[in-house]
Amino acid sequence: MEKIKKCEEMMFGNWRSYQCQNKAKMEHKGKHFCGTHDPVKRKERQDARDKKYDEESAKSRKDYLLRSAAPDLYEACNSAIWLYDELALSPLAAAAKCGDTYIPPSDEKCLEIREEL
Ligand SMILES: [Zn+2]
Repeated sequence: MEKIKKCEEMMFGNWRSYQCQNKAKMEHKGKHFCGTHDPVKRKERQDARDKKYDEESAKSRKDYLLRSAAPDLYEACNSAIWLYDELALSPLAAAAKCGDTYIPPSDEKCLEIREEL
């Protein structure tokens, strides 16, 4: 009977390294790995994290540039986005978001935001 193979990934503890104790599920370039340390899946997860980070960085850079260039316009747009989101909530979604204490934006608040725009 073939011996059960262990994952060959080396882990780093406080003072020394040790081998992962999970059962190997796959082989990659002659080494065995568990699902967590599968190099192909790890690369896919890392690429997805990098992509998400790049998208968030680009959005926050764009936000910064808009806020710096036209702070009043930026604030007015954000208020309009908030108002749109609030008005687009169905009664059920509003209840799910805020519970039964939800109060929709008042007419005064809508007019105030319209004035900013
Ligand atoms: Zn492992």
